[in-house]
Amino acid sequence: QAKTLGRGRHHFFDVGLRERMQRRLRMEQDLRDAVHDGQLWPAYQPVVDLKTGEMVAVEALLRWTHPRHGAISPAEFIPLAEESDLINVIGKEMLRATTRELASRRANQGLDLTLKVNISTRQLDDPHLVPAVQDALTSTGLPPSALCLEVTESALMRDQEAAGEVLAALRSLGVLLAIDDFGTGYSSLAQLRRLTLDTLKIDRSFITGIAESRDAEAIVTSIIAMAHAVDLTVIAEGVETAEQLDLLRKLDCDQAQGYHLGRPVSAAELFGTQ
Ligand code: C2E
Ligand code: MG
Ligand code: MG
Ligand code: MG
Repeated sequence: QAKTLGRGRHHFFDVGLRERMQRRLRMEQDLRDAVHDGQLWPAYQPVVDLKTGEMVAVEALLRWTHPRHGAISPAEFIPLAEESDLINVIGKEMLRATTRELASRRANQGLDLTLKVNISTRQLDDPHLVPAVQDALTSTGLPPSALCLEVTESALMRDQEAAGEVLAALRSLGVLLAIDDFGTGYSSLAQLRRLTLDTLKIDRSFITGIAESRDAEAIVTSIIAMAHAVDLTVIAEGVETAEQLDLLRKLDCDQAQGYHLGRPVSAAELFGTQ
């Protein structure tokens, strides 16, 4: 009996693995099609200044509306895109489309917002990244200081020397740089300083508990103090309640982003139709 069960489990595992691999392959092919068919589009989520309550920036977040499966989460397809060089193609298109959108909102509606665009590890390794950013800026006329590139803490810590060089090249274009999902990696104050960033985003996992847990509050308090000590603007991500927002304001956090302030939506929904 036990033996049958054991073999059965082994069998189930193999089927699961095969299915997962087939699903991945199918999704990768679908993603290639999606790039060509225009199924990928940027959503924008407001970033709010905690002193004035005003929207000061928007984060562009990639969305995939699959013709048969509907919305697929970037948490699922970005890692897939990162395994091939699809991420470089997608990333460049994302830069082009979002800078164009923001430049036009600026010109036509006078919106003075910082555009935040996520850059993945693989893109940092791409020699075409810096020229692509430059190209997006010059072709749309978006001022470099209105663009902030977000790189996750883990991507920055993976190969610090290489990352440092790319960041320096990006910085020389005049764009702003942010460390994303801060607290999930293991960077030190000295490393943060050397990278000469502008903004630090506290990972949502720390914000979730701040109103209930003294520990979470203590961690967020010390991250904010540390970031301010090296002149970084601090953004809290994943703010879902009024309590969290009030507390962050008391803790001297600079800006916040989260469902409580606004979900990621299309440009037309956030800014109106042009
Ligand atoms: P991220 O850059 O840390 O983006 C924040 C994520 O948190 C987004 O998930 C956003 O929708 C979600 N979020 C915002 N506020 C709340 C909240 O109050 N509660 C909860 N539960 N979630 C909230 P999303 O859009 O699913 O994106 C996931 C990740 O995928 C992003 O994390 C980013 O790492 C990556 N990503 C998204 N778009 C791009 C892109 O264009 N390029 C690259 N390289 N990565 C991207
Ligand atoms: Mg981000
Ligand atoms: Mg983040
Ligand atoms: Mg995050």
